Amino acid sequence: MTRPPSPSLLRALADLLGAKGFSTDADTIAPWLTDWRGKYHGRAAAMLSPATTEEVAAAVRLCADAGVAIVPQGGNSGMVGGATPDATGDQLLLSLRRMNRVRHIDGPAQIAVAEAGVILQNFHDAVLAHNLRFPLTLGGKGSATIGGLVSTNAGGTQVLRHGTMRALVAGVEAVLPDGSVFDGLAPLKKDNRGYDLRHLFCGAEGTLGLVTAATLHLVPAAVARRTAWIGVESPDVALQLLRRLDAAIGPALEGFELIPHACLDAVLRHIPATRAPLGEAHPWYVLAELAGDDDSLLGNALESQLAAALDAGLVRDVALAKNDRESEDFWRLRDSISEAERAEGPALQHDISVPVDLMPAFIADNPARLAAAFPGARALSFGHLGDGNVHHHVQPPADVDGAAWIAEHGAGLSRLVYAHVIELGGSISAEHGIGQMKRDILAELDSPARLAALRSIKHGLDPAGIFNPGKLIV
Ligand SMILES: Cc1cc2nc3c(=O)[nH]c(=O)nc-3n(C[C@H](O)[C@H](O)[C@H](O)COP(=O)(O)OP(=O)(O)OC[C@H]3O[C@@H](n4cnc5c(N)ncnc54)[C@H](O)[C@@H]3O)c2cc1C
Repeated sequence: MTRPPSPSLLRALADLLGAKGFSTDADTIAPWLTDWRGKYHGRAAAMLSPATTEEVAAAVRLCADAGVAIVPQGGNSGMVGGATPDATGDQLLLSLRRMNRVRHIDGPAQIAVAEAGVILQNFHDAVLAHNLRFPLTLGGKGSATIGGLVSTNAGGTQVLRHGTMRALVAGVEAVLPDGSVFDGLAPLKKDNRGYDLRHLFCGAEGTLGLVTAATLHLVPAAVARRTAWIGVESPDVALQLLRRLDAAIGPALEGFELIPHACLDAVLRHIPATRAPLGEAHPWYVLAELAGDDDSLLGNALESQLAAALDAGLVRDVALAKNDRESEDFWRLRDSISEAERAEGPALQHDISVPVDLMPAFIADNPARLAAAFPGARALSFGHLGDGNVHHHVQPPADVDGAAWIAEHGAGLSRLVYAHVIELGGSISAEHGIGQMKRDILAELDSPARLAALRSIKHGLDPAGIFNPGKLIV
């Protein structure tokens, strides 16, 4: 059981962190008490913003001695309410955003050490100056931080080729719940000293440690990039196209995103200065991207594969980006889907994965299952088909009060979606994590053996439960 912070603890934290690192000012803290989707609202006794690992460790020691809960936060772009404190006002928000230095870039070794608060877009820019690339990107790159990306084991649009955050993390520095510092930044290729703590912090959502820095793998900056926007009949055809491209040009294929027409339509209506790449509407689109170091090779490969797919009647139409600007315009359509959807009104979001081959069946069958139980519910699936991961969003019937409908039916509807996912051998969280949004459904649907192991790990590292209580596992 955690306790509310005493005035003397707050004074000690204020002395430790100084005016820039400590605030109880309601206006300063307010923007950070609601999650990006506006679903979760919390309160906090204070916001701590340490600037160094030593300050984080000292603050944690004070809180550990007092039994006070800490909620770590990076860019607050997470999708499951993981960085939002509870409503008691007894928890302390600990922002890592001031720890925003790229400590080191080793070009020849293709490695960089970045502090937790470095914003993903800034990290991309920093390594590009060394002709290198960090091959993970996502729509929230202007706010998401390295610490948040590690802690959610984020995915994004290049997982197909480069893996999730876990595959890109070569080392981690973290402050543990007793205030000790785990220094695991050394990028060891081989290290068999038992459990891999570095990977344990990936996806731990701040429940085991406060990530203060990470060593990250880089790749050479892409010399060439070819992007295509492709109209297709169905997810099943999109998967056939993926298999074809994979067989022919697999190693160069970096992105393969599936987008239904309704999502493109919402983006065109809500996001300024966007336009459809193809003259006619198609039921589904694929956004495919190749990256490599030979532009003409890539261009020829993509063009010849897509021409053959057109001839075979597999794809309905294709727009090839003529330059980087057009390629960015295509990606903007994809990256704006969440924002456009937010503007459409409330929806139930399910970030799920199933084996790649089963995804078309899930996308085809799930809406019918939902419609049978919840007439009028409108399901949309978009995202990372190549990873077997889509964002399956369900909007309330058009003629009802959406928020009230979700309050009444949301839990039952989501349970139906997740039961289907589990039936297919999938996961109820592909890349966004569990946070507070999926904590209860995880506890209900996950296997007892797995849940017991997760709880033992949490209890072993944080017996007093001061790190991000109420998130991920209870
Ligand atoms: C438009 C948009 C598109 C997105 N697209 C994708 C996508 O394609 N793929 C994807 O995976 N995600 C996506 N996201 C979600 C989000 O960007 C990621 O979850 C990201 O990793 C969150 O980073 P953050 O710094 O904002 O973390 P926050 O939201 O601040 O925190 C996320 C979780 O990590 C914990 N945490 C944060 N920092 C630390 C730290 N230093 N130490 C310990 N715990 C910490 C928090 O307590 C919380 O549990 C998207 C978000 C937006 C807004």
